[in-house]
Amino acid sequence: MPHRLLFAIAILVSAAPLRAQDAGWKAGTAKAVITPSEPMWMAGYGSRTKPAEGKLHDLYIRVLAIQDANGHRAITMASDTLGMSQPIYEAVVAASDKQFGLKRADIMLNASHTHCGPVLKQALYDIYPLDDKQRQLVDAYSAKLVDTIVATIGEALADLEPVTLSHGQGQTDFAVNRRTNREPDVPKLREDNQLLGPVDHSVPLLVAKRADGSLKAIVFAYACHNTVMDFYQWSGDYAGMAQLALEARHPHATALFAMGCGADQNPLPRRDVALLKKYGLQLADAVDEALKQPFKPLKSRLTTAVELTPLKLDPLPPREQLEKLAAAPENYSQRWASRVLKLPTDKPFADYPYPVQAWKLGDSLLWITLGGEVVVDYSLQFKGEYGYDTWVTAYANDVMAYIPSARVRIEGGYEGQSSMMVYGLPAERWAADVEDRVAASVGRVVKKVAE
Ligand SMILES: [Zn+2]
Repeated sequence: MPHRLLFAIAILVSAAPLRAQDAGWKAGTAKAVITPSEPMWMAGYGSRTKPAEGKLHDLYIRVLAIQDANGHRAITMASDTLGMSQPIYEAVVAASDKQFGLKRADIMLNASHTHCGPVLKQALYDIYPLDDKQRQLVDAYSAKLVDTIVATIGEALADLEPVTLSHGQGQTDFAVNRRTNREPDVPKLREDNQLLGPVDHSVPLLVAKRADGSLKAIVFAYACHNTVMDFYQWSGDYAGMAQLALEARHPHATALFAMGCGADQNPLPRRDVALLKKYGLQLADAVDEALKQPFKPLKSRLTTAVELTPLKLDPLPPREQLEKLAAAPENYSQRWASRVLKLPTDKPFADYPYPVQAWKLGDSLLWITLGGEVVVDYSLQFKGEYGYDTWVTAYANDVMAYIPSARVRIEGGYEGQSSMMVYGLPAERWAADVEDRVAASVGRVVKKVAE
């Protein structure tokens, strides 16, 4: 073998570690203020009587873009909103494919489920007494939000720089199962250590660090309704507060919140700005406490999968029952019944295309996202099935309804039944196989990302 070739091989070998480092993870971040400039209607509570009157703090979207050693790119977004609606999700997916070549599986649009954000297009229309002017504001705001999300995704992709990714977990306990504990009893029950019902108090964490060791992004989740407040000030509620606190403590980092399966969990007690701040700081403290522990590094490999899985609806109640509801004084069930009575009845309603997504990062982190307001049973079930390093977050991509487990659906109540009317779907409940269908879909996307 000629010496020159040997020399070349030696160079290649010695250069290999450098290239391996280059071919690690990259991450980029960007954020934008999305506080409405007009006095718009606020999302989440049907009992509001007027539009917003100011702000406690600004509302944001925050985007983290990641790229693995093979050049596979994906984005996750945090937003101080009630939930993305189907038209917004579809518009962002279409534009991101066209402009950035991102596929649906690579796009994760999270919502903090604050009830102090604006109403979005095609989301829970029946529960709000919106007039034409308010509807126009909702449409215009939603169109602008799509543009802002796409532009912010573009900025995050343009910001990609070499990072390490690692994950860990903290915990905090202000979430209370709201189906099994009466709100006024909670302080006493907590004191006596007698709170009942399933909860998920984990705070899963994904962290991106720059080559110099500084924090670039902190992604964290918690399973608890983001509903400390029901006032008329724009606010990201406790999750918004936690993101702002973490960014103040780590000025070069972007903090992104994702909501866990908190549909049947409330932050209790509540309805006090001091409590909003307390829970926000408690969550930020849980993150900072966890950051002191060793984190598991993630190899630079990303696989993603998504399904729009068809979920079936129960049949509508008998026509006479709907007519009776529609004839009642105006409220959300009256508006719902009047609207569904006008729907064509010659064929059954279409199944709902329900988004189920999985990301696998490195060898260990499996992140499952589910659309809608998902009860905690799903999180506990999938963590049991797929292991401790599994994240299960909800309120992702499209928030179209509550997603009860089979248990909660049979028990009924708000999360199991009556919320369907609130969301405006043409049914009183999901079909009996809702949990089986979601679990089967999760099984398929998890299998895909494991390949
Ligand atoms: Zn909710």
